[in-house]
Amino acid sequence: MPPVFRFAPSPNGYLHLGHAYSALLNFDLAQGCGGRFLLRIEDIDPTRCRPEFEQAIYEDLAWLGIAWEQPVRRQSQHLSDYRAALERLTAQGLVYPSFESRAEIARLVRERQAEAPWPHDPDGAPLYPGTAKQLSAAARTERMRRGLPYALRLDMAAATAQAGPLTWTEQGEGPEGETGVIAAQPDAWGDVILARKETPTSYHLSVVVDDALQGVTDIVRGQDLFYATGVHRLLQTLLGLPAPRYRHHRLIRDAGGMKLSKSSQSVGLRALRGEGASPSDIRRKVGLL
Ligand code: GLU
Repeated sequence: MPPVFRFAPSPNGYLHLGHAYSALLNFDLAQGCGGRFLLRIEDIDPTRCRPEFEQAIYEDLAWLGIAWEQPVRRQSQHLSDYRAALERLTAQGLVYPSFESRAEIARLVRERQAEAPWPHDPDGAPLYPGTAKQLSAAARTERMRRGLPYALRLDMAAATAQAGPLTWTEQGEGPEGETGVIAAQPDAWGDVILARKETPTSYHLSVVVDDALQGVTDIVRGQDLFYATGVHRLLQTLLGLPAPRYRHHRLIRDAGGMKLSKSSQSVGLRALRGEGASPSDIRRKVGLL
């Protein structure tokens, strides 16, 4: 079976040099080993994703000389796959609803911080401080009946106890130079959100489900997702899905050394193309020529 690679952008802005690097690296690695290259559109957030950005992804990648298999998997069309995975985790008693608003969560974190330093996840966000896990079944039902918004969270303590110690094989490296066999630390993220009342999935859940459904063997992506891999390994294990190989790559930074964002238009592929850059210029800029 040939290796399967994928590039999985979210259509919430125009692609920049960082995306170009990731897409070209995946494409080159697939080509170099007779592997397959897939494009996946991660469009589960209807408030941020727009059709014109999705169209621009196709145009920009084709312009770069990248070819991908059809049909393209668009996550918004597969919500039932994520719902099924969520039900499987729920049946294992690993999911609970939490009803606090963002403001309430911020207030709880401030209260906890006043007593002792409150832990933050690897992205710098405070861990969920709430106590919704302890709500009785009756209290949950009553809140849902009142139509309160909620987030479905993974009971991290129960999930890690069930899965036991986990590792992954890192062929690239993490932000601290981590490579080889890496001990997954999903608990660093606390009770992560798996779904919300209005969106039956989350990034973590859908990425894991899709990589397995699409037979992805090699996940090549930015170092900003290195620590999230711990959560992905946990979900893969709980859902009985295979472990892909991982290769996290360096991030392309702007002249000031900052990580690129979709709003940094100076390094947007469209802007560079508009200024007359060629696909080889882009490869040269990201160090792939
Ligand atoms: N959709 C994610 C992003 O645009 C990437 C997902 C992944 O490569 O795992 O950041």
